[in-house]
Amino acid sequence: MTRLFVFLIAFLLIPVAPQAQVPDAPVADFTVRHVGGGRSDTIELRQLAAPSEEWFISSQELSDLLGVGRFWRTDVRKLVLRIDDRRVTFTVGARSVVGNDETIMLRQEVLYFEGEAWIPLEFLSDVLPRLSDRQASVDAQARTLSLGERRLNVLGLEVSRGGDQTELRIRLESALAFRVDDSRVRNLVIKIYGGALDPGQIRLNTAQGLVDAVRARQADGYAYVEVDLSQLASRYQSLTEDDGKTILLRMEQAPVTLIPEPQPRGTYMVQTLPPEQQGRDVAVRRVVIDAGHGGGDLGAEGLNDLREKDITLAVARQLEKILERRDNIEVILTRDGDESIGLIERTEMANRYKADLFISLHCNAWPNARARGVETYFLSPAKTEWDADVARKENAGVRAAEDLDFMLWDLVQNAWIQESATLAEEVQSRLSTDLGMNNRGVKQAGFRVLVGAFMPAILVELGFVTNREDAARLSSPAFHEAAAESMADAIVQFRARMDAIRERSR
Ligand SMILES: [Zn+2]
Repeated sequence: MTRLFVFLIAFLLIPVAPQAQVPDAPVADFTVRHVGGGRSDTIELRQLAAPSEEWFISSQELSDLLGVGRFWRTDVRKLVLRIDDRRVTFTVGARSVVGNDETIMLRQEVLYFEGEAWIPLEFLSDVLPRLSDRQASVDAQARTLSLGERRLNVLGLEVSRGGDQTELRIRLESALAFRVDDSRVRNLVIKIYGGALDPGQIRLNTAQGLVDAVRARQADGYAYVEVDLSQLASRYQSLTEDDGKTILLRMEQAPVTLIPEPQPRGTYMVQTLPPEQQGRDVAVRRVVIDAGHGGGDLGAEGLNDLREKDITLAVARQLEKILERRDNIEVILTRDGDESIGLIERTEMANRYKADLFISLHCNAWPNARARGVETYFLSPAKTEWDADVARKENAGVRAAEDLDFMLWDLVQNAWIQESATLAEEVQSRLSTDLGMNNRGVKQAGFRVLVGAFMPAILVELGFVTNREDAARLSSPAFHEAAAESMADAIVQFRARMDAIRERSR
């Protein structure tokens, strides 16, 4: 009844306005699948912003599709959709979308065509999940659009206390990689890779034991759980239970001493290693550097006749030089020439030489020339469409039978996931800061080349050979050297971090 009324008003407010002229704007029917709902619709989309290939959906189709109320204000050319409990405002001619108090920028602006506002389809895939519990994925090639509820995989939080200890458990739907950042005073931040949570569910407002409060937030591709600790907490350890489906942080209170111990400035927390990690030798003495592709396998091909196999080899050689001469780290290259080596052979080499780290170098390619920047992967089940796609491309060198397990959670590599994530964060932050490149973040994917490694292992995508800016860099020897130096700095930093942990656990 109310909805009918709303639509009636919306209808009355929609103006008769001059139409934008977009001659020959491509039109296509997209099939809409409602995930879990069974029914499917067809909607008509248009490419209104040529030469951009972005598809646009009319405001009416959009509100029908989402089953939400629509308001149009002619005077200011604003469209308001009421999505669940949120007011989402679009303005014709603007790229900004305002949802409650958050403003999100679209790549394309909202257009006015045939008497109504048309919204770029990226709103559904990129913005909707941030503003609501709904999720949409678009496959422009297959002309399909899937709509559904966002699936949460960070399910709950429990805090329990006993004696001098307080335990905090985060329940996950399935095992996810995570990393604990303890660099701030009396505060731990758990970054959960591929985590999706509802901040309203993962919170603690009243102090319990050594935990003062817990907050959570959702970022693109990660979930963060932030724990404020009581002044009494002196150390913690991070563990997993239930095959990785529970993250456990155990906080301990220091024994009370008569004379207060001097507190080191900066951080009061000391991480104690979980039992299975104690005595583990993570000294970084020997590193295997893997120049991706080679021989008949050219890897990605891009602008300026760039070939991935040449770039990876050039950077690998520079990295070898710096690590050996400057940092006294022994380096083994999986290839030192233009030769073809199987993916499995590469990690076998690292295992045979008992390397302490395995670093695989690659370059990205993407049909959209605007994609650019550097990203670093560590092994874990691929979580997003993008990650899975990159993994599929990089795994192309594997024969079909061996390819079957490339997405599986590998137990051997899993033992090193914390260290791999730490190394990946270090390398990614150095590369993006030192080289001034677009920071695409640390990601997880099931690369075959990392699966067999019995050591911390990462895969670095040094840039896009398909992007003009990145390609110019990737073809320059000065860039190869700068990238190598930056990665060497990260490895040295990682070595220092591991040394410090071993020192403390002694
Ligand atoms: Zn590659």
